[in-house]
Amino acid sequence: MLIVTEEACKKAIGRSDAFNAVESVFSAMAKGDAWNFPVVREAIGYADALYGFKSGFDKAGLSLGVKSGGYWPGNADKGLTNHQSTVFLFDPDTGQLQALVGGNYLTAMRTAAASSVSIAHLARKDAKVIGMVGAGHQSTFQLRAALEQRDFEKVIGWNLEPKDLARLAEIAEEKGLPFKSVEREQLATEADVIITITSAHESLLMKDWVRPGTHIACMGTDTKGKQEVDPELIASATVFTDEIAQSITIGEAQHAVANGLISESDITAIGAVINGDHPGRTSETEITLFDGTGVGLQDLAVASAAAKLAEQQGMAQEIEL
Ligand code: NAD
Repeated sequence: MLIVTEEACKKAIGRSDAFNAVESVFSAMAKGDAWNFPVVREAIGYADALYGFKSGFDKAGLSLGVKSGGYWPGNADKGLTNHQSTVFLFDPDTGQLQALVGGNYLTAMRTAAASSVSIAHLARKDAKVIGMVGAGHQSTFQLRAALEQRDFEKVIGWNLEPKDLARLAEIAEEKGLPFKSVEREQLATEADVIITITSAHESLLMKDWVRPGTHIACMGTDTKGKQEVDPELIASATVFTDEIAQSITIGEAQHAVANGLISESDITAIGAVINGDHPGRTSETEITLFDGTGVGLQDLAVASAAAKLAEQQGMAQEIEL
């Protein structure tokens, strides 16, 4: 079996590899060829930690496995990332452990790949301004991946702590693009594509602020109770997601569904758009919204790609169990 370290993942897998892996698995999910198994997430009553498993099987891509890990709030003081995870991949023909892959870097890569897939398939082709809501750890991965999807000419951003926007300004500068720190309302009225990637529990973007034709990728809400946008905005948009069951329970759509503003049948799996079974955006004025909840199959898809690439490049360690 292979051991693929965090460092090896960073070197082996690129943004286009992650994009292709995530796009393929979303497609397989919508065709009924890949399934996520029920998620386990528990407070363990020690170190304030939340620990759990996300697992699934992709029969099309032959990825079987589990991402195990969670959130340790005290890690930052130890110089470690609060989110910790490891992916275990199994041979679907024998059940033998195939690979043990560091999951921290890959989580950011697969989450950025998901919003990128949504931008690639749903944003207007002439989108010029990208607006970032949030400037935490995930945001830099999100911005880098998104900038590859359209010919953006400007980056604008809002964050609770404005000083953290410097990390997004740096990326914009690297790409030769201007960056402006703005208030949320201005962001919503100027941006053609918006990514929200915060831990907020309230609406940060209101329906009346967002202009027609915008694509919004809501990526921060992955737990019951979290919220980033006005439920009325969700109700006025054409809503897509990675997995409908998660979207209505732990994703951004949970609030609009709970308030009776939309129902499950109003939400489309993005895989259906990828597969050509749903037209996606149908007008230049439609607001499209992707509810990226984060599924285990994304983790398995990128871990599987990373393991293959690391092995090919001699960066995976092989051991006998
Ligand atoms: P982080 O702790 O590094 O950053 C948190 C961000 O949220 C910062 O920008 C902070 O200013 C902002 N924030 C916190 N509280 C807020 C509030 N009340 N109002 C507005 N902004 C607020 O976290 P991160 O690793 O960048 O993750 C950001 C979010 O994305 C988290 O909620 C995380 O759980 C989620 N996430 C989702 C997926 C997915 O697949 N959908 C994957 C990874 C992380």
